[in-house]
Amino acid sequence: MSMSTHHGLPLDDDIVDRIMTFCSTFGTLKSTILVSKAFYRVFQTRPKSITRAVAYNIFGPALPQALRVVRYPYHDYTSPSDDPVAMAEACPEDHTHSFITVEEQEKLQENSKVVAALEDVYSVINKDRTSKTSVLTSDESWRFRRAMYRIMLYCNQFPGSGFIQYDDESIENIRKQRTAVLSEYSTNELLQLHSAVKFLRRIFFNLSGIGVFYFLCHSALVADAVPRDSILIDALLSAGPSGALRGWEARTYGVLEDDIDFEPFENDEENPLFVGYLSLPLENIWTARDITPPKEDEPVSKWILDQVNGANDTCSQCSHPGGLSLYTEANWQRFPVFLTNLLKGHLKRNPTIAQPFFAATSHLVNADALGPFIGDLFPLTAHTAPAFDGWERTGSYCFACLTKFLEEHLWVWWLEERIKSGWTPPENCWYGWNCRTQTHKQSHADTKNHLCAPIKGDPV
Ligand SMILES: [Zn+2]
Ligand SMILES: [Zn+2]
Repeated sequence: MSMSTHHGLPLDDDIVDRIMTFCSTFGTLKSTILVSKAFYRVFQTRPKSITRAVAYNIFGPALPQALRVVRYPYHDYTSPSDDPVAMAEACPEDHTHSFITVEEQEKLQENSKVVAALEDVYSVINKDRTSKTSVLTSDESWRFRRAMYRIMLYCNQFPGSGFIQYDDESIENIRKQRTAVLSEYSTNELLQLHSAVKFLRRIFFNLSGIGVFYFLCHSALVADAVPRDSILIDALLSAGPSGALRGWEARTYGVLEDDIDFEPFENDEENPLFVGYLSLPLENIWTARDITPPKEDEPVSKWILDQVNGANDTCSQCSHPGGLSLYTEANWQRFPVFLTNLLKGHLKRNPTIAQPFFAATSHLVNADALGPFIGDLFPLTAHTAPAFDGWERTGSYCFACLTKFLEEHLWVWWLEERIKSGWTPPENCWYGWNCRTQTHKQSHADTKNHLCAPIKGDPV
């Protein structure tokens, strides 16, 4: 059977079918169906295979795991009389060609956005620091995504809200259910899941405030530094991949208040269901299967990545062996230090300068605008020549070198900004940015310019 296009060309049903199977989202498929009656008619004759093909375009081989997340019957199995493997056996991963409903498509699409965005974050931290979007190979991406959907399922099964009312027997049963749920997977897949959990822990560790300073600048070390028994991080983990992404984007775990009951932390109570949220069942399984547990100091990328790009790269300026933790244009936006603290010398303690500077730059901290802002400072090396000759926007810099670059150029940028907005600098103070009087004598700070290099030594 065939139809005619509006150009009058005959188009075979199989070709129409094929065109629809190329759609990269359910939304595009829907638009394609709505745009023409003929497409609609062909879709009606084979909705199952076409929808499945589009789903495969979105999820690839991780489709069974993605489907289970949206189909799982999330019942309460906390009664001690409940079968401890009931949760593990309910709604297994579907490898058949079942029909995907419109409602399922919407949920799938939503989850796929979370996992894809996290893969981008994973990639820039663990695979290749020079690309903001994922450069994982198809195998690596499959391992990552399969693990993420399984963690997503687990976190939906054991949500972090309302954990406090359970008695000991129920807690024991929940722990058995958790171990049974993860026991469904092969050892290799569990090692991949363990690595994916480690990545999420690192994100939450950063949000918890403990790791703000060390994150990214020492990213290779941070995974080891995450305390294994940190109850807060275990609790944050229960917010799952979507919680990790929301926290990462907002730079705070405050956005997870609806997902997690933080009250026990405020009262210093230990919630037994947060303890070892994901690590305890994994440990149970390593023991039951007589497997040596993965070492804590193994890199986050182990089990998921086959290859890491630029692992041995060094700083463009000082040759420090930074590898993935070096700063490049793709990860500048995560630079973890307040810019006002990087004002040169005593400028940061001169309120006449620090306060308006803070007002002009504080929005950069929580926005993706910080990366482009740092990039735009590079032309200012013309003012600091010859000290910064050869420092390029495209370089890779260690934490110390990028910090030094910012300290030397932020005040120059601020001077230019102020002049651009009509400010006429008063007479230069001899001691410039190194003047101490500017920090405690308001009249001096107001009447002399300190956004200049010292021409005399320290006055004290
Ligand atoms: Zn360096
Ligand atoms: Zn002065």
